[in-house]
Amino acid sequence: MPTEPTPLHFRERAEALAPELTALRHALHREPEIGLALPLTQAKVLDALKGLPLEITTGKALGSVVAVLRGGRPGPAVLLRGDMDALPLQELADVPYRSTVDGVMHACGHDQHVAMLVGAARLLGERQAELAGTVVFMFQPGEESHDGASYMIEEGLLDAAGQPLVGAYSVHVSSNGPRCGTFSARVGTQTAGNAELKVVVRGKGGHGSTPHTAADPVPVAAEMVLALQNLVTRAASVFDPVVLTVGLFRAGTKLNIIPGTAEFEATVRSTSPEAMADFLPRAVRLVEGIADGWGMTADVDTREGYPAMIAAEEAVELGHEVVGELYGEDGWRYDEHPIMASEDFSRITAVAPGVQLGLSARPAAFDGADEATAPFNHSAYAVFDDAALPRGAAVLAGMAARRLSAGQERPCSRAARSRMAGSSAIRARPGQNVS
Ligand SMILES: [Zn+2]
Repeated sequence: MPTEPTPLHFRERAEALAPELTALRHALHREPEIGLALPLTQAKVLDALKGLPLEITTGKALGSVVAVLRGGRPGPAVLLRGDMDALPLQELADVPYRSTVDGVMHACGHDQHVAMLVGAARLLGERQAELAGTVVFMFQPGEESHDGASYMIEEGLLDAAGQPLVGAYSVHVSSNGPRCGTFSARVGTQTAGNAELKVVVRGKGGHGSTPHTAADPVPVAAEMVLALQNLVTRAASVFDPVVLTVGLFRAGTKLNIIPGTAEFEATVRSTSPEAMADFLPRAVRLVEGIADGWGMTADVDTREGYPAMIAAEEAVELGHEVVGELYGEDGWRYDEHPIMASEDFSRITAVAPGVQLGLSARPAAFDGADEATAPFNHSAYAVFDDAALPRGAAVLAGMAARRLSAGQERPCSRAARSRMAGSSAIRARPGQNVS
């Protein structure tokens, strides 16, 4: 009877793989790609997975890679995910493996995510015979506003294992924060849901000296901007908040001409799908009502982006347990707040109990300095320390192995169970929030 691998098996082995994972990460960093296609990145992933006992499928509408590892023994299925795309940014960080593509940079660490997921595939693939269940490796393009996760779901990602997923885990690195190698997460909302609100107010142009002969859309649009801020404070619960920022406001060509239209655009964020579902129609009604009150019309357009990402308690506790075993209690901390950025791994955590672990990859050069002083993700100066790579790979592999060995149902505390039952209602179904 072979013994199942435990997370500890993976720690030493991941360290041994570190030079290889680092080389892969540097190669990805030198040739970053944006969006859904990523042909060079996909080729590097396929090459790195060669020789492993995996069933591999590549995407049709996008350059994704789905690799399925079927363990030697029956059991449940889990998913591990790494996003692969870069950002339209000129790299200014001084690293030897700097981007060779003008205006494109891996500034969010997704090159590290790919290397970690390849590492996890190596670690688990080497223990295939002992593994009790199936692991789906999701190499995802287009996380940065392209909704790559939705495309992968449309192309059958969730059917890849041939059974429902009992867990889904990913890691997201940051270039600042606590000591490199520290993991973090929180139960419940991890990242916000987002939506866009676009408004065009249609009035009637005229001479700036005689507004009574025109229908000036500028003060009406300004009124809408303020009314929307009021709506945030009056309509959204402080315990389930909404953030609305008008980042664009445009009208007119000259100081003495009343324009025919005025327009503005806002980003809306919420920490639960319910708050977003409640707020958006109210915002539309308010804006249309103000236009109507002035005898004008407003074209209002809303578009929902990624839903809020909700971490399941059992997945967070699994992460905590595995990190604690591998790297000690000081390798873990609980995040106090959600972050108001958005992430399409939420499409996966909506259908499987999952979590995205934060992992600090802050360079050691900032040790002893204020946590926030190192340039953050999406900065042209962001640097991610490769010391995080083996840790990310070992924890992903450890979580998958530990979850599989628990069988279909992972025992958890009664408190966790009842809290999960209460939160199941706020799990969106994939696609639910796509316009
Ligand atoms: Zn990212």
